Amino acid sequence: MAKTYDYLFKLLLIGDSGVGKTCLLFRFSEDSFNTTFISTIGIDFKIRTIELDGKRVKLQIWDTAGQERFRTITTAYYRGAMGIMLVYDICNEKSFENIKNWIRNIEEHASSDVEKMILGNKCDMTDRRQVSKDRGEKAFYTMGRDILHNLSSKTTDNNAGGTGKPVKITEKKSKRIKFFKCSLL
Ligand code: GDP
Repeated sequence: MAKTYDYLFKLLLIGDSGVGKTCLLFRFSEDSFNTTFISTIGIDFKIRTIELDGKRVKLQIWDTAGQERFRTITTAYYRGAMGIMLVYDICNEKSFENIKNWIRNIEEHASSDVEKMILGNKCDMTDRRQVSKDRGEKAFYTMGRDILHNLSSKTTDNNAGGTGKPVKITEKKSKRIKFFKCSLL
């Protein structure tokens, strides 16, 4: 059968239970019939093919199917992921605080060059908002700073025992911090 896409990207939704990951997945995916449940690892994914720069890009978006409750998200889920959406609920302070724990989980299990973005969900519930837009925005900076520190320490490690020259972050690596361009609602 002919391939109906040019690229296949695996994306993940991560965040506390109840923040709205499954709803986001349903809203974005093509229909409700293409869900594939991988029973061996207890995970769902959905598909949507979009067009980007004239290329057909098939987005395969994975949902944790409730496993996040037990904090058992492991390497099987992260394997081959190219992008991760970290979701919190703007009406739930705890879900926002936990973003840093999810980032730690990602650092442990996902590829180091995976693209990441933070998404504050349930923006329609303005009267119940607990996490201000400002604090959401700061999360982007904190995440950027953490990645920058990681990069710096990696570069330092590479130079270990080395030349005594100043540490330089290469242009290629710096490009990873591009999620700063994301906007927050
Ligand atoms: P998950 O556990 O992260 O997959 O969360 P669900 O997708 O199951 O959603 C949890 C609850 O939040 C459900 O009752 C949804 O109806 C509700 N919910 C999800 N997204 C939104 C949203 O954008 N706005 C509002 N008001 N409720 C939402």
